Amino acid sequence: MNPVTHFLTGWALANCAPSLDRKERAMVALACVIPDVDGLGAIVDLVTRGSAHHTELFSQYHHQLHSLAFAIVVAATSFAIARRRWLTSLLVLLSFHLHLLEDLVGSRGPDGYQWPIPYLAPFSEAGQMTWNGQWGLNAWPNFAITIGLLALAFFLAWRKGFSPLEMVSKRADEKFIEALRARFGARERVGESRR
Ligand SMILES: [Zn+2]
Repeated sequence: MNPVTHFLTGWALANCAPSLDRKERAMVALACVIPDVDGLGAIVDLVTRGSAHHTELFSQYHHQLHSLAFAIVVAATSFAIARRRWLTSLLVLLSFHLHLLEDLVGSRGPDGYQWPIPYLAPFSEAGQMTWNGQWGLNAWPNFAITIGLLALAFFLAWRKGFSPLEMVSKRADEKFIEALRARFGARERVGESRR
């Protein structure tokens, strides 16, 4: 699936643990995107395309970090940085695996290639994971899931008072929440009207 869908999945998961702080939520959300850093070679490929030294980094390395070994590295890093070490790193591990699951079910390439997940790389070539029912990267379920997750992110922002913008700027996030509550009603007022 695309990075936006992965990110929103990680964000939804991060919101399941109310005790996480801003930094820890960011770690859980980003853990659902980070396996795709192995696809960044696509940028180099694009730059070198047509030159005498053109590269094929994307097809060579994409999915090489979609592995248990990298998941453990990412979880260990979050364990070192987080305050709630165990909770954060366990959610990071889960978030990383949700990425793998999403790729497994809905990331068939336009050319039909399944992009198997080399779960045991770089130690073993065994355990390449694919799923027969896998749908395409641009298939409707991916759009439906993305729209659903986006709606959930908006709802959570309105309800809890923070959104993914908090990773970029606290001020921008506050403005966004203000605008959201001005449009859809403040939580307190909703509560009062019920009384
Ligand atoms: Zn991926």
